[in-house]
Amino acid sequence: VGPRRLGPVDDLADARALLAAWPEDKPRACILILARNSDLDGVLRSVKQLERRFNAQPSAQYPYCYLNDEPFSNEFRAVAAAATVAPAFFGLVPAAHWSYPPHINTTLAAELRSASRRRMPYGGSESYRFMCRYFSGFFFDHPLLEGFEWYWRVEPDVHFMCDLPGITHDPFRHMQANNQSLAWTIVMEEVPSTIPSLWPTMQRWLAANPHHVVAGNMLPAVIEDSDAAQIGDEAAAAEEGGDAAGYDSRHALPLLRLQQQLYSSSRFKFTGCHFWSNFEVGRLAFFRSAGYRSFFQHLDSDTGFFYERWGDAPVHTLAAAALLTPEQVYFARDIGYKHGSWSYCPSQPADRPRCDCHPAWNAVPLAQPRCQLDFRTRLHALQRAEE
Ligand code: GDP
Ligand code: MN
Repeated sequence: VGPRRLGPVDDLADARALLAAWPEDKPRACILILARNSDLDGVLRSVKQLERRFNAQPSAQYPYCYLNDEPFSNEFRAVAAAATVAPAFFGLVPAAHWSYPPHINTTLAAELRSASRRRMPYGGSESYRFMCRYFSGFFFDHPLLEGFEWYWRVEPDVHFMCDLPGITHDPFRHMQANNQSLAWTIVMEEVPSTIPSLWPTMQRWLAANPHHVVAGNMLPAVIEDSDAAQIGDEAAAAEEGGDAAGYDSRHALPLLRLQQQLYSSSRFKFTGCHFWSNFEVGRLAFFRSAGYRSFFQHLDSDTGFFYERWGDAPVHTLAAAALLTPEQVYFARDIGYKHGSWSYCPSQPADRPRCDCHPAWNAVPLAQPRCQLDFRTRLHALQRAEE
């Protein structure tokens, strides 16, 4: 630990030097950990498992990018760096990315935090909101990540329960080969009081930005129709008639009407089911795209990150729903993962020898069958429809 490492300077030169000598065929990926100095022990517990299960093998050895809103201590740097075969880089989150946008009334924000302290998880926390806004809108622009194309987000005190040997279990290689942008293991249902205005705010963005929404998107998988019978009737009406090629101009109008309703009607609601982002493997180009930036800027120009408590997980999921096709998200079914009391364990018999978990754990706790089962079923249905 030389004097160069003292102080809040990002390890940019080290990261760039590593990338300059990066193997041609290897995904330009890093393990991304946002943490406080006080998170060191939990970080080590996570990192040791990830190293043992996956990252220490020569085909992996992806570097670690540690980010913090305060300068990392010399102890954190030295201990974290010594825990991995691959190098560790440390960066400071720019203050402008860990703060309020100018239109937020910070007095009102503080009052709303006190009011929600007991009413939702982290309701009273200002730093949690900065963290959620950071993962929603800024992490992908950190200078340390420049030159990287992929990240795997890891948190303190998570568990990786399965060996991931060789390149076949490398999520970056899998996603690169299959043109995918976002990977997940667990689907969670959001606490409704944290996001009352998120979906209406997104609807306004959808209505104003149809050019950013991709054809064959996954919006149908995240939306509930409070009047399903009516939409069925319209679809049936649109099915009548038609020539041999299948096209009938009479279809165009009902379809357009359905899309406009989707974008504006209160009849359609976000289900609240989202990819749990404490595990996340992603393609940085997705977040750096014009569509994602437009979406985040629209959300950030509203007030929900601070007057409510919008999480980065539903934000990422809703962005993916509008900007990706179902084939571009990847259920990382071979990665055993646990965060808090929620876990995912691969369920094929062939997985058992490389895992220290049991698929029966997936049902524990049983609180949220709607998202665990329904959302995955919906995604699979969309994926099949695309084939
Ligand atoms: P939970 O998983 O929703 O309960 O939230 P966590 O407390 O695990 O926080 C999510 C991630 O953000 C973890 O990687 C934390 O280490 C990190 N994090 C949360 N708050 C802060 C903060 O104030 N500063 C820093 N540097 N990291 C934070
Ligand atoms: Mn966590």
